[in-house]
Amino acid sequence: MLSILLSLTLGFSAIDQEKLPAAHVETIARDVIEQLQIDMRVKPSLIVTERPEPTPLGAMLYANGKCVIIINTQKNAWAQWGRFLDGQNTSNWDGIVAASVAHEMGHCLRESREFVASFSLENKQFRGLQQVSNTGLPADMVFKQELFADAVAVLYAQETLAEQASEVIETMIQARSKYGANDPTHNTAEVLKKLLSKPMLRDDHETLGQAAKRMLETL
Ligand SMILES: [Zn+2]
Repeated sequence: MLSILLSLTLGFSAIDQEKLPAAHVETIARDVIEQLQIDMRVKPSLIVTERPEPTPLGAMLYANGKCVIIINTQKNAWAQWGRFLDGQNTSNWDGIVAASVAHEMGHCLRESREFVASFSLENKQFRGLQQVSNTGLPADMVFKQELFADAVAVLYAQETLAEQASEVIETMIQARSKYGANDPTHNTAEVLKKLLSKPMLRDDHETLGQAAKRMLETL
């Protein structure tokens, strides 16, 4: 167990609040949430707080449909931004943070629940995932949730980040495969590559969530 923890913490250069201030992430998050909440009946809220979870961004879903996006400023969690942000991609940091918020918003969309309920994974993927279920939730369900949220992030990036989009998406996919061995339920890289090989255009009548669901279901 210790070796896994070590490889996670030594595998990337840590980010702190001096490099990436929480207030800056909050500004970007408010903007992305504003854009993506238009199709939602119950509007999400945003909190900035310190929590024990190891991730700097999260989404919490309540049974009544309410969703809370969490910016987690706890030091070790904040360091995890280093999975995506490094000295080579500083000009894309804002775009990568925005796409990460779009991912969390993807968890809030009604279509996420619909997709998880209706989509079946290929047997091979499913067998690999069963071996790693240790979260309390079925691993295939976690994988489907992450896949849907990533598809929302990719669509969001393509629609709003203009010339930055392809580099931001590439960063996301690289991080997914790089940390996939430690985190198989989040290793969506192969499916995302397949998704990107097809035209990803939203129909006029479609919400972002509906488009993500349709594109994943017709891969
Ligand atoms: Zn997620």
